[in-house]
Amino acid sequence: MTATLTVDPVHPEPELIRVAALILKKGGLVAFPTETVYGLGALALHEETVRKIFAAKGRPATNPLIVHVLDEAMAKTVCATWPEQARAIAEALWPGPLTLILPRRDIVPLVVTAGLAAVAVRSPAHPVARALLAEVAEPIAAPSANLYTEISPTRAEHVRKGLSGKIDLILDGGPAGVGVESTVLDLTGPVPTILRPGAIVPSQIERVIGRIAVVSEHVRDEHARPSPGQSKKHYAPKAQLAIVAMGDAGLMQDRILRVRKLRGRVGVLIHSNIAVGQDGLVLRRLPKDPKEYAAALYDALHDLEDAGCSHILVEAVPPGEAWDAARDRLKRASA
Ligand code: AMP
Ligand code: MG
Repeated sequence: MTATLTVDPVHPEPELIRVAALILKKGGLVAFPTETVYGLGALALHEETVRKIFAAKGRPATNPLIVHVLDEAMAKTVCATWPEQARAIAEALWPGPLTLILPRRDIVPLVVTAGLAAVAVRSPAHPVARALLAEVAEPIAAPSANLYTEISPTRAEHVRKGLSGKIDLILDGGPAGVGVESTVLDLTGPVPTILRPGAIVPSQIERVIGRIAVVSEHVRDEHARPSPGQSKKHYAPKAQLAIVAMGDAGLMQDRILRVRKLRGRVGVLIHSNIAVGQDGLVLRRLPKDPKEYAAALYDALHDLEDAGCSHILVEAVPPGEAWDAARDRLKRASA
């Protein structure tokens, strides 16, 4: 049985947080809102509880988890080193949608890092996530609260769809604000490197620590993956997803017709002013602002999936770092 508790996203009720914390302390699984997407939490320092996350999600043991911490002090309990760069970033950009990769301390079970020598840590900004971390007073491992390869949840309903019956509790704190997973920054190499784009963009990080690198898609796809979100098919709707050039209504109409010939139900996601008109389409127009677009993207994909779309045509997003996260997730969903 999976219970749901509706919690105030700004001022979470202490008694509800205590219920959730108690479940975690007893070794249970609790889904909770973070500012990126909903997380599936378990106590990070206990091998048996962490294993339950992998089992519930159907996630391969080769995919490491992000360890959520309240603050820098808690981060230092799981990281073997805390370089000046980490200190500066934590000061400037934590709490927030940015995960740091650093050498792992021995207290972190290897199951968390999928056997890697490095651990991923993030201090979430969402009041519910923070209240939960403060109450349990230890790190919480929390990947996105969805089944492996399915779309990440930005609402409690999405969590229920995938994990109902497999976890103990869902804290429903309304929609997640950012809507895509955190930026992942690797601080273990000679040059800080973004492994996964997210809401925190390269220029924001460079303002704090100077030049950084961004792993190219090619490298991410071809090489052994230090990072799970980098496997090609990580963020995949059940429908077949294809990206169509931006601002080209004619091309979009053409693609719609082609899918129709296959007798598929077509979902279309656009963000520009192109007019797309055909009966029986499931059309969603997303905001033009990159932040608002990201916040609405997974919800729209869940929607189209629920509407039974076998094919989803997505208008390509503009160039530029503000769109990196959305572009990356769409690319993966269409792989
Ligand atoms: P998820 O929690 O499902 O959003 O995905 C976890 C993400 O954390 C992956 O996409 C990786 O980018 C990152 N990650 C977690 N642990 C590590 C690690 N030890 N080394 C590199 N990346 C990691
Ligand atoms: Mg995930």
